[in-house]
Amino acid sequence: MRAERSGMMRMRDESTKSAVCSRREFLGGALAAGMGAILPRMSAGAEEGKSLKIARVETFPVSYKTVGRFKFFEDAMGRPTGRPTVVVKITADDGTQGWGQSVPTPRWSYETLESVQTTIERHLAPVLIGRDALDIDGAHAAMNRAIAPSFSTGQPICKAGIDLALWDLAARASGRSVADLWGLRGIRDITMSWTLNPVKLDDIEPLIEEGRRAGYRNFNVKVAPDPKFDIELCRRVKKAAPDGFLWADANGGYDLATALEVIPKLADAGVEVLEQPLPANRLTGYRDIRKLKALPILMDEGLVSSAELEEFIKLGLLDGVAMKPARCGGLTDAKRQIELARRHGLMVLGSGLTDPDISLAASLVLYGAFDLTRPAALNGPQFLQGSILKKPFKVESGRLRVPTGPGLGVEVDPAKIASGP
Ligand SMILES: [Mg+2]
Repeated sequence: MRAERSGMMRMRDESTKSAVCSRREFLGGALAAGMGAILPRMSAGAEEGKSLKIARVETFPVSYKTVGRFKFFEDAMGRPTGRPTVVVKITADDGTQGWGQSVPTPRWSYETLESVQTTIERHLAPVLIGRDALDIDGAHAAMNRAIAPSFSTGQPICKAGIDLALWDLAARASGRSVADLWGLRGIRDITMSWTLNPVKLDDIEPLIEEGRRAGYRNFNVKVAPDPKFDIELCRRVKKAAPDGFLWADANGGYDLATALEVIPKLADAGVEVLEQPLPANRLTGYRDIRKLKALPILMDEGLVSSAELEEFIKLGLLDGVAMKPARCGGLTDAKRQIELARRHGLMVLGSGLTDPDISLAASLVLYGAFDLTRPAALNGPQFLQGSILKKPFKVESGRLRVPTGPGLGVEVDPAKIASGP
């Protein structure tokens, strides 16, 4: 699909803003203040006394062709649909630019390429233009007033594109990397996990072999809803790769009775962690599953913000977190979730939403900064073709380098946005 530029927003006259604090604004501010009471405030670059205003927010729909079969990027007939994204470019009043990327995955959660683009253009860009570009917490509070949280953060994948662009911009404004801005050094490369989601058992060994040829030694397995298939799948993967880290992800696909029956058997088959066995809202089910003590239980889909994570920790519903910045509105809250999980001794694994280019760079920066040494389920390089970067990522011996340049450490090629990746 050809990418088209759209939605350039002009700087809004500050004088048009109302000086009166409405009830909605007050509630939005109170919400942000409540979060701040729990977690540290993040104002990038504020310590250096810089002031940059957001002048333009632009969006560019960019779709990537997929390679092989991945269940979230096929239609009802099993035909590949491609991987939709929306690239976000934010320009400050001094010309500094930041790039972000939203990765809507409608078959994983409700956001679409169209909803991301129209929400940014019609609802988020108008409340961001004219704001301090380095006040990222303030940007989130403004976004959450415009698109309010329901039970949890509204349209987090959309907001993540903005968040990534603001971190990229803030770090570039001071000539530093995002990790440097956080005061973290971290590790230089990330070991990757190969995703297996076979339709039939005969597909397993060829898929493992394909991963091996690409240099991978660790495997992330999509399971549910069929426990018999899942146990055999995990047995075969463990047999073929006995030294690899075996991580199973059910994407909320079991009911409680099935989960209680299958979890000890998955442990016997060699699975080391099980992610999201039940739908995200089955909280008492998670309580019951943890009583089994058969496998570490990670959550993914349910951790849309650190507020939920804090509640789930208090309720004792999980052993760890499968992190992905796109799920929780970007790096700002993803960083908080890692810090919160670590304070409570929880396992943190790096995951993703089949992230390309800028979204992948953000995940690598985060996981590198926080020393995530377990294999990360970042399967963008496995399933996606093409790139909009001047220097595309390349997996070598099953590892990816953490970008260390200014901002998120990658350079976007605007010509590739125009022509398609
Ligand atoms: Mg998952």
